[in-house]
Amino acid sequence: MSTSKTNSYKIAVIPGDGIGKEVMEATLDVLNGLDIDFKYVYGDAGDECLEKTGTALPSETLDLIMDADACLFGAAGETAADVIVKIRQEMKLFANLRPVKSYLNTNSLFDDIDFMIVRENTEGVYIADEESYTDDGAIARRIITKKAEKRIIEYAFEYAKNNNKTKVTAVHKANVLKKTDGLFKKVFYEVAKDYPDIATEDFYVDATAMYLITQPESFEVIVTTNLFGDILSDEGAGLVGGLGLIPSANIGEDGALFEPVHGSAPDIAGKNIANPIAMMLSAIMMLRYLGENESANKFEAAILKVLKNANTLTGDLGGLATTTEIALEVKNNL
Ligand code: ATP
Repeated sequence: MSTSKTNSYKIAVIPGDGIGKEVMEATLDVLNGLDIDFKYVYGDAGDECLEKTGTALPSETLDLIMDADACLFGAAGETAADVIVKIRQEMKLFANLRPVKSYLNTNSLFDDIDFMIVRENTEGVYIADEESYTDDGAIARRIITKKAEKRIIEYAFEYAKNNNKTKVTAVHKANVLKKTDGLFKKVFYEVAKDYPDIATEDFYVDATAMYLITQPESFEVIVTTNLFGDILSDEGAGLVGGLGLIPSANIGEDGALFEPVHGSAPDIAGKNIANPIAMMLSAIMMLRYLGENESANKFEAAILKVLKNANTLTGDLGGLATTTEIALEVKNNL
């Protein structure tokens, strides 16, 4: 049968473990209702894969991700760090994007939050260089390079420019970490000169942790180093109420991977009760990455309608609906 769908993409699909499989199925179900021709190539990774094949991330899976236009990743259980860290390294996924947005009828602490955290993904203390022990403890190195920080800061400004954001906030601790974060701050203001229409500000990370609670609506785009970004992202998740709603993207020069922030949730796996919205919002980030903004808006509007109606919600949002029912409802709203 011939298809009327226009653009075509090859998507690597890694459902992984636990609810990863369920939320992935629900998300693909909605994606298939869009006017885009997706060719899915399925790969194995995670705990079950380790048990079956002896490795949590087979090289065939990596090849398949490298070869695709983008990758959708569900969740990995105990092996999550091995799987996702390895993919990030192999694919040089330098930017971790974590949107923090309040939606209706969720457990969000505020109703006017909408900002993006752009986190550097390749250096900082997360190089985990903890080789050296002293007589009394251990030493970890923190690497900050001009090249990597410039790349992430430019990414944040480009994101702001392309998404009608008016301000970028740099977060650091340059008063104490004078050399490393001093460099980060300096590069931030150098890059900012190329974006005269975008306002800038910089805060210490500790102050930012407080401002996220006292004035979250004032943020639009936050750019920061690896560890600070990791911590502030989870604070952001707490602000807008729960793991079932938080998507993320890992972007590199030659590829990108989109995944919900939650894990495999073994406590609710296999029961068809997981909230698929975090995975769906991750797929929406993928659509925007592919330039399919119209479909992304349509998909997001369909989810907003489900949240607004509040008749069909999963247990984490106080409802009784199943994962499959959410998918059906979103699909019907497209
Ligand atoms: P893992 O070891 O894979 O990280 P975990 O259970 O330690 O799994 P999460 O999967 O992130 O960590 O889950 C934390 C809690 O949040 C669990 O109680 C889980 O049921 C709940 N949760 C996570 N994701 C969802 C979701 N999509 N829908 C409903 N509840 C969720």
